[in-house]
Amino acid sequence: MPRRVAVLSALVCAGTIAIVVQTGAAQRPRPPGAEFSGAAFRFTEVKAGIYHAVGTGALSVGCNASIIVNDEDVLIVDSHSTPAAAWALAEQVKTLTDKPIRYVINTHFHWDHAHGNQIYGPGVEIIGHEFTRRMLASGESMRGRSYDMFIGAIPSQIAELRKQVEAMADADAKRKLGDQLRVQEQYQLATASVKPQPPTVTLTDSLTLHRGGREIRLLFLGRGHTGGDVVVYLPKERVVASGDLLGAGPSYLGDAYVTEWVETLDRLRALEFDWVLPGHGDAFQGKAKIDHFQAYLKDFWQQARRLHDEGLSAEEAARRIDLRSHSANYPTIREVGILNHGVYRAYDQIEGRVQ
Ligand SMILES: [Zn+2]
Repeated sequence: MPRRVAVLSALVCAGTIAIVVQTGAAQRPRPPGAEFSGAAFRFTEVKAGIYHAVGTGALSVGCNASIIVNDEDVLIVDSHSTPAAAWALAEQVKTLTDKPIRYVINTHFHWDHAHGNQIYGPGVEIIGHEFTRRMLASGESMRGRSYDMFIGAIPSQIAELRKQVEAMADADAKRKLGDQLRVQEQYQLATASVKPQPPTVTLTDSLTLHRGGREIRLLFLGRGHTGGDVVVYLPKERVVASGDLLGAGPSYLGDAYVTEWVETLDRLRALEFDWVLPGHGDAFQGKAKIDHFQAYLKDFWQQARRLHDEGLSAEEAARRIDLRSHSANYPTIREVGILNHGVYRAYDQIEGRVQ
């Protein structure tokens, strides 16, 4: 891809000096844990210049990104779980356009959406909710029950994979699992290099970017998946990037405000859009998933409340909560039970430990 180079001439005293200004995509050094083969992302163009990027598995990336190519620049929604993953996306964006990335939105503070921020240097504004800035600036995005469960488990996952690869007799299966092991090893390296960078621009309710012909609205519609979820809404193109406020499948509940989330989704429904680009899973059309997820959240909350009032521990409640009636909408739900973290959070809320 040829690089776009603008040449400025400046008159200095009697002589003329040509100053070469690089306005195209930046050269960023390859961060630790960014060794992989093939493409790290699959891009789907849902509207002209608006792409949904989903990880291929060649590299552990954590979440999806949206890529919005404007007249002069590029806006990226979410920076993935590590600098390595963010770097891989920024490199692959160069196959779409040589316009520079100028804006990165963090839909929320979770590491899998915001821990790649550090690859974007000065000249790139990172935009997020004030709550997101607080969580990233205070180190909260690198600790707590949720982080410990997902990131703390990496070394034991690697040890387990190593054992399995060694024990495997079939050469083909051994090679495939060996590839998975290398992805996890790279992920561990990449995770160790994270230094959370908070947003440089914050909002509390809304902020609109006018970039050439595009109007890009950043909206906080209320608390839900976290205390500061922002959706990225393009009214003219009728596209919304929803982060984890609305996923293709049920979103993680460990840092949620479940009852408020149902109302926040009502406000999302009120927007006029055709396409949803979620933080996890494939892009989809329409609003039916809002109904599905509201029903799921209400059912979860009612059951958690009842089991709490019956005096059950959070762990026992997590084993008993039965959401199989939602399996037509969410085929991954096959058994009784839910991840403990959602119930810990619900109990925290019921017992007044969440403000
Ligand atoms: Zn999340």
